Amino acid sequence: MFYDARARVLPWREEPSPYRVFVSEVMLQQTRIEAALPYFERFVAALPDLRALSLVPEDRLLKLWEGLGYYNRARNLKKAAAIALERYGSLPGSYEEIKTLPGMGEYSAGAVASIAFGERVPAIDGNVLRVFARLLCDESEPSSPLFKARVREILEEAIPPSRAGDFNQALMELGATVCIPSAPRCKDCPVPDFCAARRAGREKELPQKKKKPSRRLEEKTVALCMFEDKIAARKREKGSVLAGMWEFLTLEGALSKEELRRELKSRGMQPGEISPLGPKEHIFTHIQWKMEGYLVRLSSSALPEGMRLFSKEALEREVSIPSAFLKYYKKI
Ligand code: SF4
Repeated sequence: MFYDARARVLPWREEPSPYRVFVSEVMLQQTRIEAALPYFERFVAALPDLRALSLVPEDRLLKLWEGLGYYNRARNLKKAAAIALERYGSLPGSYEEIKTLPGMGEYSAGAVASIAFGERVPAIDGNVLRVFARLLCDESEPSSPLFKARVREILEEAIPPSRAGDFNQALMELGATVCIPSAPRCKDCPVPDFCAARRAGREKELPQKKKKPSRRLEEKTVALCMFEDKIAARKREKGSVLAGMWEFLTLEGALSKEELRRELKSRGMQPGEISPLGPKEHIFTHIQWKMEGYLVRLSSSALPEGMRLFSKEALEREVSIPSAFLKYYKKI
């Protein structure tokens, strides 16, 4: 069987406890397997079970998630752990129950229910949709509700009563390693005879490409303000992108050195030398930040309300700085 012979060795496959599968599926919602691996090991070592996850302080949780992005996943994971413990005493074992937990959509609930509990339920991610667009030689936009419903119907019939989780993972694995986006490796495929796109010579044309959403461009100035060997940071406001995460002083617009100096003074700060750190970009789902960075040496410790001075060790140990800002932090 394709999956037995070719599945990648992954820590949550080696030891597929419900908790480990649950954490891994949330981590993989917006992160590639290779990128998630080191985070997964660190996360489950620090928070080895649902109770530890449900009780972890938010700053510690976000610190463990630092670098993975999409931090609401971590917050939902913690909420889901608390709700599962309160309602069921452990992770619930059915798709319908798992789907009621925060952050658990159809795909994640299907993956956890089938992999951890063996329930015969599909787990349809982008990889699976791509494989089916080709197997069926279907020109529909793969994420359209109609196409998803068609794939779901087929899978509900096809999933074997035993090894439901392996069947779902085999499909995901096929999409991730063989039936890959632009150049499918049909020679390595276990099901070429069932593939209508292959027979029609259309495997590279399908699935239809979705138009990328346009992103709003925002210009920012990021000031890494240091007093002696300490660096100033604050929590981002509620309602903003990256709300609740820590940031260096971030101002609207691309400011020149002199404009920045004026802004800092208007906030009660006393800037000394200001050195440019250059432009950087960061891309969120719907927004693109174009940033100008500066290193600011302060001649007093006066800071605006909400900002705190951290030693570098304390900053790295205690708070989580989103990767948009780490790009500058790494430069100092
Ligand atoms: Fe994908 Fe090629 Fe296999 Fe068809 S034959 S499912 S296009 S890898």
